Amino acid sequence: MCDTELFDSDAKFDSGTGWPSFDREIADGRVTRIEDCSHGMVRTEARCAACDAHLGHVFPDGPTATGERYCMNSASLRLDRAES
Ligand SMILES: [Zn+2]
Repeated sequence: MCDTELFDSDAKFDSGTGWPSFDREIADGRVTRIEDCSHGMVRTEARCAACDAHLGHVFPDGPTATGERYCMNSASLRLDRAES
């Protein structure tokens, strides 16, 4: 995991899944999206554009204006400095 900041705490919302969820990346291009067909589902995998670390998945069912839900694996997520 590198030090690239991927999400702002302002973009964080409670998805009810128990995973940290965000409705947008902090700046375009910070997160790489890759089609993930594992586990019999087609999902969009999110990776760090800088170091290629697996972050989680992006779903098109976000509750906010962006319509997207970045569902992050907490183990791979480095939280915003303001929160840590
Ligand atoms: Zn990284």
